Amino acid sequence: MSKVNLNTPEVPVRELRLGSITGFSGTAAGLVSCSNAGGLKDGSRSFSQCMGCSSGNAFCQLSMITDAAMVNHAPVGCAGDFFGYNFVYRVGQMERDLPPVIGRYFNTNIEEMDTVFGGARKLEATIRLAFERAKPKAIFVTTSCASGIIGDDVESVTNKMTRELGIPVVTCFCEGFKSKIWTSGFDSAYHSIVRKIVKPPEKKTNKVNIINFWGSDVFSGLLNKLGYEADYIVPFSTVAQLERISEAAATIQICPTLGTYLGAALEQVYGVPEIKAPVAYGLAGTDAWMRELGRVLDREQEIEEIIAVEKAAVLPKLEEYRARLTGTTCYITAGSAHGHALIALLRELGIDVQGAAIFHHDPVYDNGDPAADMLDHTVKTYGDVPNYNVCNKQAYELANILNRVRPDLMIARHGGMTHWGAKLGIPTLLIGDEHFSWGYQGLLNYAERILETLDNKEFVTNLAKHSTMPYTKWWMEQPPYTFLGGNVHVQAY
Ligand code: SF4
Repeated sequence: MSKVNLNTPEVPVRELRLGSITGFSGTAAGLVSCSNAGGLKDGSRSFSQCMGCSSGNAFCQLSMITDAAMVNHAPVGCAGDFFGYNFVYRVGQMERDLPPVIGRYFNTNIEEMDTVFGGARKLEATIRLAFERAKPKAIFVTTSCASGIIGDDVESVTNKMTRELGIPVVTCFCEGFKSKIWTSGFDSAYHSIVRKIVKPPEKKTNKVNIINFWGSDVFSGLLNKLGYEADYIVPFSTVAQLERISEAAATIQICPTLGTYLGAALEQVYGVPEIKAPVAYGLAGTDAWMRELGRVLDREQEIEEIIAVEKAAVLPKLEEYRARLTGTTCYITAGSAHGHALIALLRELGIDVQGAAIFHHDPVYDNGDPAADMLDHTVKTYGDVPNYNVCNKQAYELANILNRVRPDLMIARHGGMTHWGAKLGIPTLLIGDEHFSWGYQGLLNYAERILETLDNKEFVTNLAKHSTMPYTKWWMEQPPYTFLGGNVHVQAY
């Protein structure tokens, strides 16, 4: 279990804190066994294409707090993805019947002269501008490679501006070069919230924190039946709402890759219990998760009744879908725990998962509880997964392995990955709402979308006829993990 320390402005990156890796090739069971034995080593690549950045992941959580403003202390290029967050923010507000205002995002535009003389004055000026223009309840300052390399004392500036402006001005240390694991940025964002925004509890409430991205509301119905209320954090919450998350009855994570640090911090610092179970994907995972929720909320009898009713409602239809999907082959590319959850879900539907390219691997979560390890649960419940690759979005590896495996279906969790399947004529499905496949009903929702995707194969067949791959014939004939070296468990091809 990692120890949360709110006295330091930075949270250690996942490589150091959890022993997380971005390079592995072998089988899922092999990875679980190495992780459980404590012998997991990262396999470094001698060739790498572009990947994500911690700064972006920190930004995607903090930038959707509805009454806060963001200052990105960075060259303007680091702000190149602001438009995407603004799009998600506006769409998410409309879905929640909120006025679709634009994001309050500012960038300090660090230039060459600033890298020589320092960017602190520019940062102060930008924070003042953000305060005047946006009138926010808090300002978050995200750092960058440039601000980290030149050694700007961002924490001193934000402390000074907090005193001057009378609102929390909070540094979020998330320099991209510090970690190959961009989910370290989630931890940085949550550290800044717990350190400077969350207040000690004054009372206990019946609210349950739900650490999520921006998915649909699938928890209110369940929690209301149990006498509790869903409190979705961090996107689309307010600063005042975040101040009180220490008073919640429990914390749910829709994905431990996202919420591992915040769940553990709230439990360690304020005693808010975290639901430590496999996430609720597939029948076995949903059973285990529901029972743990019932135990933590002291509603064990009520949960057993809900499980019986909800399972009975989906089982006949599930059998129908299994009959239609059994034998379908699939390859997955997704973030860590969500990818593990999707493997469970697909296996539950009878689909043959032929492999997965998963963006990183955490051998343990911050709570240290092995019961919460989704890959361990998936392998124990549904068996091993061959062609299991830990790969931080290295498209050249993905294109190569897809071309060999040639599954009936590809499932991708992130935009920018789907076209690799489509170019090869493989029907590819991306579902952005990770709550869509949650729980017993989620199995039916996902099965329906898979069948729709398989029914529309003609689109990708035609696309493939008119597409070219950017990779040479030489590369497509090489073993896919040619450039993955070091201490890895490479499967022969
Ligand atoms: S913080 Fe670093 S890695 Fe991230 S976008 Fe800026 S320069 Fe690139």
